[in-house]
Amino acid sequence: MKVTVVGAGAVGASCAEYIALKNFASEVVILDIKEGYAEGKAMDLMQTASLNNFDTKIIGSTADYSKTANSTVCVITSGIPRKPGMTREELIGINAGIVKDVSSNLIKHSPNTIIIVVSNPMDTMAYLVHKTTSIPRERIIGMGGALDSARFKYRLAEALEAPISDIDGMVIGQHSDKGMIPLTRMATRNSLPVSNFLTADRLQQVAEDTKVGGATLTGLLGTSAWYAPGAAVSSMVQAIVCDQKKMFPCSTFLKGEYNLNDISIGVPVILGKDGIEKIVEIELTDAEKAKMKESAAAIAKTNGLLAL
Ligand code: NAD
Repeated sequence: MKVTVVGAGAVGASCAEYIALKNFASEVVILDIKEGYAEGKAMDLMQTASLNNFDTKIIGSTADYSKTANSTVCVITSGIPRKPGMTREELIGINAGIVKDVSSNLIKHSPNTIIIVVSNPMDTMAYLVHKTTSIPRERIIGMGGALDSARFKYRLAEALEAPISDIDGMVIGQHSDKGMIPLTRMATRNSLPVSNFLTADRLQQVAEDTKVGGATLTGLLGTSAWYAPGAAVSSMVQAIVCDQKKMFPCSTFLKGEYNLNDISIGVPVILGKDGIEKIVEIELTDAEKAKMKESAAAIAKTNGLLAL
């Protein structure tokens, strides 16, 4: 099965590398507008194949969408990343034009593809793809919650001084510092609620550290992160290509679920060969519902900046 990754930058290349390392796709096409850049990344990655034991063929393309034809999944990472001090929402001006153009080119060559949107502000970019293409909502998936949940688990493991493999937890809501909702109430350490081990204050600190996870890395790196974003996307691509029916929180276009309409926001879904195969509605507390409402209002405000 063929997977296309648009944007050969930090996140796109990391995503292509993890897909190849996991060895489940026959072909990965990386496409970028910068002349020769995707070809260079593809060649460099292919030269790791004999060292890392994968058979996935990686091909680079400078803006030639015919090479992406008949992709099962297309990942959109093209666009500018945050610099220290910036919010994801500030990227909308440039990235909206890029995402609109890229998604329409992808669909021309792969009308049945499943699109994973990564470019920020991600919830609004996923919404834009819904509003400007005719593909069904099951096939437009925003990546944010998978990454934010991985960061949540990292912070929980740190606080618990436990291995990450013992930890489970999920982040829903907007992919933004203020709008994301780490579900601390439901997080577990080997099936026991983490509140058995951590004080309410420490748990609150874990939630706050999770929410600024991206900003913390942007401050350290001078640009936004790529390893964990690339790994998160590759896990979602694998769930679809291998029809795994795995659950991830993904930005999903809602039609009444969670009492929300006409918005893409992070909620748990089952990913399989048809894309979003089920939206999982979990019972939220009143406080969590209120946070979800606030988060949705913030996304709707950013969506209002789109020239639709
Ligand atoms: P980057 O600058 O390293 O790479 C972006 C690439 O996109 C560049 O190589 C650029 O040439 C290419 N590009 C720009 N316009 C294009 C077009 N029209 N067609 C094809 N390629 C084009 O940036 P990055 O660090 O890889 O981040 C990419 C995007 O992903 C940013 O918007 C960033 O904010 C976002 N991001 C999202 C998440 C998430 O969880 N959703 C996580 C990390 C980064």
